[in-house]
Amino acid sequence: MAKKTIRDIEVAGKRVLVRVDFNVPLDKNGKVTDDTRIREALPTIRYLTGQGAKVILISHLGRPKGRVDDKYAMDPVAARLSELLGTQVKKIDDCVGEVPREAIEKMQQGDVILLENVRFYQEEEKNDEKFARRLAALADVFVNDAFGTAHRAHASTEGVAEFLPAVAGFLMEKELNHLGKLLENPARPFAAILGGAKVSDKIAVVSNLLGKVDTLIIGGGMANTFLRAQGNDVGKSLLEADKVDLARGLLNEARAKGVNLLLPVDVVAAPAAAPDAQPKTVPVGQIPAEWMALDIGEKSVDLFAGSLKRAKTVVWNGPMGVFEMAPFAAGTLAIARVLAGLDATTLVGGGDTVSAVKQAGVAGRITHISTGGGASLEFLEGKQLPGVESLLDK
Ligand code: ADP
Ligand code: MG
Repeated sequence: MAKKTIRDIEVAGKRVLVRVDFNVPLDKNGKVTDDTRIREALPTIRYLTGQGAKVILISHLGRPKGRVDDKYAMDPVAARLSELLGTQVKKIDDCVGEVPREAIEKMQQGDVILLENVRFYQEEEKNDEKFARRLAALADVFVNDAFGTAHRAHASTEGVAEFLPAVAGFLMEKELNHLGKLLENPARPFAAILGGAKVSDKIAVVSNLLGKVDTLIIGGGMANTFLRAQGNDVGKSLLEADKVDLARGLLNEARAKGVNLLLPVDVVAAPAAAPDAQPKTVPVGQIPAEWMALDIGEKSVDLFAGSLKRAKTVVWNGPMGVFEMAPFAAGTLAIARVLAGLDATTLVGGGDTVSAVKQAGVAGRITHISTGGGASLEFLEGKQLPGVESLLDK
């Protein structure tokens, strides 16, 4: 990676402000229900404490919209982190000003504290310069380990890096290495699988990937727009009518570039997305007028699996159907198992796709599961990530 990491600087005795992505799901009682993102930050935290740094963690949690909202306070995260680290991580009730300053003054080398939710300040998302300076005033060094928010130019991801020596943490490094290798020099054949609900979210990715992959598989709700572009009726399926022309253009572009672009050949359809629906599998083009396509059918799974068999690199973002409901989960879970069984480098990104892979019980057999949905997509689109660009070059 072309950016400096925590290995490249001296941190002993220094106050190190670490932007982490602790935006974890909480249940109604405010307990952390999935601590993956906390666990992923442990290598960086342990390294820094081991080097004798004073570790000051900062993150956002949920969408408090720039106001203090106890529902999004960091206390449950501090509690879970304390358990995982086996030492007490104090939660500080503010993230700028006197309160954290006093707490930091009392820190010993190797201590870890967690500041309050940075999005309690509206200045955070505005990337306000004064606010970034106030964050920077707390520390001697800035570490960005929040890959999941690296595509956002916020005060705690980008702004603060202007005022402190700024380097990447281990999670950031790992994510960038995996994604970078994938785009720069993938083992071939290289296949990408895209799905999920919206074409508009992922159109730029399709476009960029067409220049890189040998095979592009499109499933999920997104496929409907492409199927429509080929002249199929899709009934009441999710469809972005204003993107049909764009989809047609991408189909042509794929042909011109010699990319093998695959769409579903059959779909699991039902009158509505309901957990007790009585679906039918039909060929595409034969979706009943009042029905909607909610999963890919078995023939599509076979077609996709067959084309992936020889792949040496596969990247997947977006479920093949409404996998949250049992009648429409089979296609997504089957693709997850196909990926797990390949002799290939496999990368899965996107909140819902990652949860589908976990649901299929195969997460351990995927080469790299990205913690960043939006960030990994923007990277695959070929965009620069502000939270990375702002770090010191090697
Ligand atoms: P990720 O979070 O992995 O990036 P997205 O958020 O883009 O994925 O898409 C996931 C959503 O797409 C899921 O909620 C799923 O129910 C929905 N989805 C997938 N296929 C369909 C479909 N055929 N019709 C409607 N929604 C779909
Ligand atoms: Mg999603």
